[in-house]
Amino acid sequence: MFKKWHDECGIFAVFGHRFAANMAFFGLHALQHRGQEACGICTPEDLVKGMGLVTDVFPDEKSSRQLKGSMAIAHNRYSTQGKNILANAAPFERSTSFGKIAVVHNGHIINYDEARSFLERKGLGFNSFNDGELHLQMIAYALERNGGDYIKAIRYLKKKLKGAFSIILMTPNELYAYRDDFGFRPLALGKKNKAYFLASETCALDICGARYIRDIEPGEIMRINKKGIESFKDGKTNHFTFCIFELIYFAHPNSKVFGISVWKFRKLMGQQMAHLYISDLRLQKLLEQQTREDIIICPIPDTAIQPAQAFCQKLGLSDRLEFALTRSHYVGRTFIQPEQIIRDLGVRLKFAPIRELINGKIVVLIDDSIVRGSTSRKIVRMLKRAGARMVILIIYSPQIIGPCHMGIDTPDYYELIANTKGDPQKVAKYLTADYLLHCQIPDLKEVIAQCGKSPENFCYACFSRKYPFPVPE
Ligand code: AMP
Repeated sequence: MFKKWHDECGIFAVFGHRFAANMAFFGLHALQHRGQEACGICTPEDLVKGMGLVTDVFPDEKSSRQLKGSMAIAHNRYSTQGKNILANAAPFERSTSFGKIAVVHNGHIINYDEARSFLERKGLGFNSFNDGELHLQMIAYALERNGGDYIKAIRYLKKKLKGAFSIILMTPNELYAYRDDFGFRPLALGKKNKAYFLASETCALDICGARYIRDIEPGEIMRINKKGIESFKDGKTNHFTFCIFELIYFAHPNSKVFGISVWKFRKLMGQQMAHLYISDLRLQKLLEQQTREDIIICPIPDTAIQPAQAFCQKLGLSDRLEFALTRSHYVGRTFIQPEQIIRDLGVRLKFAPIRELINGKIVVLIDDSIVRGSTSRKIVRMLKRAGARMVILIIYSPQIIGPCHMGIDTPDYYELIANTKGDPQKVAKYLTADYLLHCQIPDLKEVIAQCGKSPENFCYACFSRKYPFPVPE
């Protein structure tokens, strides 16, 4: 078995723009929250990739202008497993008898071992353990088999690779964008004048001044060239499994993913939490003796800010909303750091409590999710040290009990705190919190319906362990 790194990320592309790489620089910037370990931009003539943030690899906006060409593909990499090395950074490119091709990928291939062994038997070599490189080699192989027909090659690849993928492929003159038939990971299409843009999230279109047109549909293959766009659909299924975690945590609040405003989704989840808060009798009993002034409602920044605001508005408690935890914007998403020890330190570097707001109060702490529990535990302890009398945690996602095999990097089964401790109140005890409440899958479904989409078209496997297809043990 290959030791493979997980690779969550942001992807971006431009077609038909005089400063394509420059646009890609801005797009990557807007998608920085999707990955902070490495990034790169590739044009038909140039490829630059490196470790670190977009501004580490492209120190200023001008540095991207050196990459020549009127189209570009770009990638922000996020990995939480294995070594963080340049060999794993994307875009990946190679030459074929039909010219140079390059690939950026977001997702997770579950039959990686099988597919890689197949390609190795056919004589293709690998420099990394990355899904993106696997895609590149599979396309290269399929192209040779299909006489340079890209559509046939992509269809072949889709039969061979199982899992979640949103892909952008650059050929000498065209771009191809495609998603797996389930549509796990997002990919949006935008346009500005005659230029086309592709991005994991619409916030990257906005920054380039491009208008969102639509999503690349699950199962669709889109070709973009001088003639415009052309769509190839196999029309296999109407049952999709969009990743609910994109809306809960991963995507930016000013984005639309899967046609839903991330801000709206989170705001509505805040209202669901409000309902939970007033209807939980044990919690109400716990708070029975407390006055309104004893309580403050505090989001863990940034994801929980809008949900906490909506929570307070719904309960008429807006005057009790306090941003009592400050966040340093010079530290990235702590979870993104691969090593636990750095993650631990990262929490303290990232969050600092305002003692004057916390001391003597009951803190109702709002957050998006609990995974290993290490972040929440440190935050709860931090609040207690700052004088909180009680910390009540309200989380707008259900307990995470299933590792994701479709591109969100969740740890193994036994690292998930909900699996080791079970009942939320046992988790609360571990976190040193006084009470813990989680929204449930029906709450998520209700909100998806309120956003005008079908709840049945989302994947909830991390909360239910009901995977849309068989997954490795
Ligand atoms: P922990 O419970 O300490 O493992 O971390 C939970 C926190 O990490 C949550 O509050 C989220 O803000 C964040 N988080 C949850 N899932 C992910 C993920 N897949 N990737 C990155 N960050 C995450």
